Amino acid sequence: MAAVQLKTVKFGGSSLADAAQFRKVKAIIESDPGRCFVVPSAPGKRHSKDVKVTDMLYQCQQLAAEGKDFSQTLAQIRERYMEIANTLSVSFDPTAALEKIEADLKAGASKDYAASRGEYLNGMLLSEYLGFPFVDAAEVVCFTEAGVFRMDDTMQKMRARLKGLERAVVPGFYGATDDGRIITFSRGGSDVTGSLVARATRSDIYENWTDVSGVLVADPRIVPDAAVINTVTYEELRELSYMGATVLHEDAIFPVRAAGIPINIRNTNEPEAPGTFIVADDSAESDVETGYTITGIAGKKGFCAINIQKAMMNAELGFCRKVLTVLEDNGISFEHMPSGIDTMTLILPEDAIRGKEKTVLSGIRKAVSPDRCEIEHGISLLAVVGRGMRRTRGTAARIFAALAHARINIKMIDQGSSELNIIIGLLDGDFEEAVRRIYEIFITGASVTVDED
Ligand code: ADP
Ligand code: ASP
Ligand code: MG
Repeated sequence: MAAVQLKTVKFGGSSLADAAQFRKVKAIIESDPGRCFVVPSAPGKRHSKDVKVTDMLYQCQQLAAEGKDFSQTLAQIRERYMEIANTLSVSFDPTAALEKIEADLKAGASKDYAASRGEYLNGMLLSEYLGFPFVDAAEVVCFTEAGVFRMDDTMQKMRARLKGLERAVVPGFYGATDDGRIITFSRGGSDVTGSLVARATRSDIYENWTDVSGVLVADPRIVPDAAVINTVTYEELRELSYMGATVLHEDAIFPVRAAGIPINIRNTNEPEAPGTFIVADDSAESDVETGYTITGIAGKKGFCAINIQKAMMNAELGFCRKVLTVLEDNGISFEHMPSGIDTMTLILPEDAIRGKEKTVLSGIRKAVSPDRCEIEHGISLLAVVGRGMRRTRGTAARIFAALAHARINIKMIDQGSSELNIIIGLLDGDFEEAVRRIYEIFITGASVTVDED
C-alpha cells in the first residue's frame, strides 16, 4: 500500500463563505488522511454582490479611526459566523471575541489587527468543526517591528509549535512581532501562510483550494471558458501572478519552491478535478507538454509612461543614470525601460507617481535637459508566459499579428532574457480585447491574417 502523503491544505474565502462550503471543505479533508494541516481564509463572497468579511473589518477600522459608529457592520460580521456555526451545530460563538475587537478598535487598533480577525475567528470555527487543534498564527508567523516577514524565525517557531501535533488549523494572512503586534501579509496573503505551513511541516504537497479548477490560461473574468493549465513551473506562475493572475499570491511561491514541495491548485466546488500542478522547471513533470506554445496570459492596468526625447541621447554619457536618479530620489521604482536612439520611456505604476508628477518631470528636465518630456496615463501591461516559447520560433510574430489584426496599437514590447515571457504595453481600453485575441490565436487556434492598409 502506498504511504500516506502529508498535505497542507489552504482554503480560500469563497471555499469557506457559508455553511454549505464548510461542509464541502470537511468532506475534502476527511476523504484523505494525509490532509492534516489546514489554513483557512476569512469567509469570502457568497455571491458576486456580497462583501468579504475582511473588507467589512477594514471598514470597521476605518469608521473607528474617524470616531464613527461601526456597530452595524460588526453585527453583520457576527451574523456571518453565527449562521455558519448554527447551521453546522458547532457551539462556537464569536460574541465575546467580537466585543474585544470592538473595544480594541475603539482604542485605536491598527488596520492589520482588524483585518486579521477574519481569519482568526474562521480558524477557531473551523478547528471546532473539524475537531483539529487551533494554533494562532500570531504565535508562529514572525515579523520585525518594521513589518518585514522573518522566514528563519517563523520556521523555527512553527516547527516547535506544530511538533507532536498530528493535525492543526492555522489561520492564514497574519502573524505578529515579538511583542505581539499583529501584522498581515498583503491581500490574498493566506496563500503565503499555507506555503509556510507546508514548508514547516515538510508536507509532501501544498494543496491550495479555491473557486476555479486550477490556474487558467487567462483570467476567467476576461475569457469565461479559459482552459485549465495542467502543469506550470514556479517561474511561469511567478510571472503570471506578478502580472495579475491573482489565483495565487506571488509570495506564496518562494517558501515551498525552496523546499521542493509542489503546489496543487484545486477547486472546492469540483474536488474530483485534478487542478493545476506547480512544479520546478527541471522536474520530470515540467517536461510534460502543455499542449500549447504559451502557458498563460495575464496583465494589469494602472501604469503610466514617462516619454523622454532628446537628440543624440545615446551619445550622452550617464543619461539613463541621471534620469533614474530622479526616480530613486523620489522613492519610485519602475517596471520597464524601453529605449530608442533618441528616446527613452519609463513604465511605472500610476500609484507610485501619484502626487509626485510635477516634481519628477521637473527633476528630469533639470537633470538631462530633454527636448521633450511628458507623461502618458492609462497604460496596461500584458504578459504572455510560456516555457514552450524557448523552443518555438515566431511566437512574437503571432502575437503581433493577432493584435494588428484587431487594430490594437502596441506601445512597448519587452522580452525577458529567460525567453519565458513577452511583455506588451498597450492602452487600457485595448486590454481585454488583446487578452482575448492572444488567447484565440494560441489556444482556440484562430488563424490570423494581417490587413495591409
Ligand atoms: P481564494 O479566495 O480562494 O484565495 P482568489 O479570489 O484569491 O481565491 O483567487 C481565485 C480567483 O482568481 C478566481 O476566481 C479568478 O477570478 C481569479 N483569476 C485571475 N486570473 C486567473 C487565472 N489565470 N486562473 C485562475 N483564476 C484566475
Ligand atoms: N482574507 C484576506 C483577503 O481577503 C486574505 C486571503 O483571503 O488570503 O485578502
Ligand atoms: Mg486568494
